[in-house]
Amino acid sequence: DMEGEVDVALIETLAIHAGAAIEAARLHLRSEEQAQVDALTRLFNRRRLDADLAQEVARASRYGRPLSFIMLDTDHFKQLNDDLGHQKGDEVLHELATLLRDGLRITDSAYRYGGEEFALMLRESTILDAAKGAERIRSRIEQRFGGPGTKVRVTASFGVAALGRGVETAEELIRAADHALYEAKQAGRNRVVVAADDERSRAAIRPIA
Ligand code: GH3
Ligand code: MG
Ligand code: MG
Repeated sequence: DMEGEVDVALIETLAIHAGAAIEAARLHLRSEEQAQVDALTRLFNRRRLDADLAQEVARASRYGRPLSFIMLDTDHFKQLNDDLGHQKGDEVLHELATLLRDGLRITDSAYRYGGEEFALMLRESTILDAAKGAERIRSRIEQRFGGPGTKVRVTASFGVAALGRGVETAEELIRAADHALYEAKQAGRNRVVVAADDERSRAAIRPIA
């Protein structure tokens, strides 16, 4: 009957439009994701870090919650590229990213900060928790890329910071971690430096035997 025919035509039209809308939404989601994720490592990128830090610093300071931030930089990476080639260097960065991801809690986030530098944001973590976490990851990298029979030797240096007195904005948090990282490089690399000079922090990063 007449009513049945109208319905079929209407449903066809709706289906075509719905299909197009779903496809457009899917494309939008994918480009949104691509804008926040680094292609080589699949970690979040710098843009996403800036957004996450702004949000988490605001939240942590409003509610008086701890927030820690770790910067790490691969040691002598230029030399590795020169010795083994850029392609092998890329593979190492990819594997480092996997080690970072696996070393984190569900509430932590890992980012490719740029080149061979990474950042970790640890929600609800004190600087002591973060120092221990950094030391654990440092040690895992050393074991993975330094054991007997491993051809590629890779280590990384870490700077650890947390929100606190004198470190109250995202910029100050990044600066404090970056400064600690610089000190780790100066002190000989393959180590963790905490942006605090109390004995408890130093004890937390004594290498695990
Ligand atoms: P340091 O221990 O002081 O950090 O020494 P370094 O050689 O790691 O530091 P430097 O900043 O001089 O060099 C970083 C190197 O990382 C140079 C650059 O070619 C390499 N690099 C950056 N991004 C990539 C990448 O995506 N792939 C590869 N293979 N290499 C990269
Ligand atoms: Mg670097
Ligand atoms: Mg480096």
